[in-house]
Amino acid sequence: MKLNTLNTKKQRVLRWMVLLTFGLHTAVYSQNYPNTDTKTNQYQNTSFHTVVEIPEMPKLPKTAKNIILLIGDGMGSAQVYAGLTANKGQLNLMQFPYSGYSITTSASNYITDSAAGGTALSTGKKTYNGAIGVDTAGTPIKTILEIAEEMGKGTGLVSSSSITHATPASFIAHQPERGMQEEIAADFLKTDIDVFIGGGKKYFDQRTDSVNLLKELEQQGYTVVDNLPAIESCKADKIAGFIGTEHGDKMPERGNALTISTQKALEVLSNKMNGFFLMVEGSQIDWGGHANNSDYLVAEMIEFDEAIGRVLEFAKKDGETLVIVTADHETGGYAINPGSTMDTIIPAFTTDKHTAALIPVFAYGPGAELFRGIYENTAIYWKMVHALGFDKKEEVSGGSGAGENGE
Ligand code: MG
Ligand code: ZN
Repeated sequence: MKLNTLNTKKQRVLRWMVLLTFGLHTAVYSQNYPNTDTKTNQYQNTSFHTVVEIPEMPKLPKTAKNIILLIGDGMGSAQVYAGLTANKGQLNLMQFPYSGYSITTSASNYITDSAAGGTALSTGKKTYNGAIGVDTAGTPIKTILEIAEEMGKGTGLVSSSSITHATPASFIAHQPERGMQEEIAADFLKTDIDVFIGGGKKYFDQRTDSVNLLKELEQQGYTVVDNLPAIESCKADKIAGFIGTEHGDKMPERGNALTISTQKALEVLSNKMNGFFLMVEGSQIDWGGHANNSDYLVAEMIEFDEAIGRVLEFAKKDGETLVIVTADHETGGYAINPGSTMDTIIPAFTTDKHTAALIPVFAYGPGAELFRGIYENTAIYWKMVHALGFDKKEEVSGGSGAGENGE
């Protein structure tokens, strides 16, 4: 067993505890394993092998008219499998014909936060933890949502956290620090987004500058709705929907708000002649991980998968929609421990923070085959841009010669 270098004393103690537990287990139950030396876990790159070069992305038989990117914040493979277990052995995620893995390191940290992770997906650039749609120098980078707008497509964001929180913010805002949620809210009005639904109403109407952004949204043609029944019945073609002053509730108190909001966004965007880009975030899988609460995490995972189901139904009928499901990082070092069955999960967590685990990527629709393999999180942006056929044009900003495979 090899684990990578961790920093704090607490983490080191925790790791030894985990190793000790595994060690005892191994000693008691399975004495056939070789005795591995776990004292050596410094990787100084004095001894390693180089890898084979492969050519760039293949030509696509067909470009995608629409892209729907679903991000399960903090969703690693064990989170997926826990959801699958709790849902009696099935998930919509199992219907995806292509899958791969992404590497989530940020420009500043071995382990990313959701801001740098979101910005990698939205712009194809690695940046520092905390950055919202800006590069390491703090310069704004055009996002996939903004590119979709330039292409004349409709755009939408849906989240079960505040819509100004790091993940959705990374697709629409450009701010040096994720905590600047009032500034992030103001950035929404600089765009032409058609529909956004999430929490965070207070960053629009209870601001320190006393400006009521909800009034400004209405002046820009949005119908503002602030409860789930109103969101569900809204027939407007520009919607600003709020499911909370701060965040959406957790499940089940939220009442499938993520699924209903996703359905509404699809209704609005399916009318767009030139197609659309939609990002949907299952935000609170991450919070279940931070809380080391397996039941919380599983309930969030299951609602996220229900939203995925609505998206797949749409994409199946439409035939021109690329659907991608992934995460920004794993949270909790979540494991499903020995003794678990299809009826009971015995969970374990190695941390209450994010981890560096490889993150699964699932894809369906035109361009889905691009998402096989292991690649940087930034490559997901380049694959989306490629699937849209936009990288044939010269004005892809933020590319700076990084190439289609990211950087
Ligand atoms: Mg998030
Ligand atoms: Zn987190």
